[in-house]
Amino acid sequence: MHLSSTISQVFKIPVFFSHDSFPLKEGYDPVRNQYNSTWILSKLLQKAPEEECKILGVTTVDLYVPVLTFVFGEAQLEGKAAVVSSYRLRDELYGLPKNPEKMKERLEKEAVHELAHTFGLVHCREPECVMHSYTYAEEIDLKSKHFCNACSILLQKKNRQDPF
Ligand SMILES: [Zn+2]
Ligand SMILES: [Zn+2]
Repeated sequence: MHLSSTISQVFKIPVFFSHDSFPLKEGYDPVRNQYNSTWILSKLLQKAPEEECKILGVTTVDLYVPVLTFVFGEAQLEGKAAVVSSYRLRDELYGLPKNPEKMKERLEKEAVHELAHTFGLVHCREPECVMHSYTYAEEIDLKSKHFCNACSILLQKKNRQDPF
């Protein structure tokens, strides 16, 4: 899967891809017609191996946290689990022609972004930095899948502190 190789390149860590999945029924809110991403994180944590690692869930359903209309993903700051969804990253949701390549690129960026939160990185003001938080899918195209200098240095520091 393309995400695995991107993540392994960006974070310089081994990545293991699994097709393992779990039912999301309990995380579903029928009123919002969306899935609670914090609930998904708690399920991912139950699934995660005990050793020092990060776990990233990838889904196609529409995610939310109670205070926000929607989220592209969610992560535990300096924790173990992160989740991203392709749902809001698809051009066709906004009445545009399908563009699977663009969706893949956006998903890569959001996956790197959420995983970096698990390494302790917070949002960045640099518009091209992957840690910049954008509200709309098309804005994600403005940033790269890479970290700005400051975030990159911080990530190296945090990564080293972790007892991998
Ligand atoms: Zn974020
Ligand atoms: Zn940055």
